[in-house]
Amino acid sequence: MIYDPNNIFAKIILGEIPCHKIYEDEHTLAFMDVMPQVDGHCLVVPKVGSRNLLDSDLAVLAHVIATTQKVAQAAMKAFGADGVQLRQYNEQAAGQTVFHLHFHILPLKEGDILQPHTGKMADHGVLAEHANEILKYI
Ligand code: 5GP
Repeated sequence: MIYDPNNIFAKIILGEIPCHKIYEDEHTLAFMDVMPQVDGHCLVVPKVGSRNLLDSDLAVLAHVIATTQKVAQAAMKAFGADGVQLRQYNEQAAGQTVFHLHFHILPLKEGDILQPHTGKMADHGVLAEHANEILKYI
């Protein structure tokens, strides 16, 4: 399996497609998922391309995990969450739909029920508000 740079997250990283950005540094970018499974659902990607965890460079993974921790802490505070779930899919058989490595961050309160994966597109105004809430704690 090889990395195809013609994927939606590569275009977001290049600024060719807009996103509701939460965090960016030299190595990583974090932004809202357009089909959130819960309020505050966001994604962390490395700027360097890899399909998923299986073909990622370890140094790149270290940067991605550091950003994931930072954004997870902020998302929990922003949404008053009791916990946070990370999800990361590798290859189609495992549910991956965008083939550029990413970690899902899902801040959860007790009793929250997740919406389906890649279910319903959210309103962009709402996503912008949610990104702003998380940004307050970054
Ligand atoms: P995967 O199934 O690959 O783990 O997850 C891909 C995620 O990307 C899904 O949760 C989906 O809602 C999200 N997604 C798909 N297209 C876009 C897009 O154009 N922009 C953003 N921000 N998220 C996207």
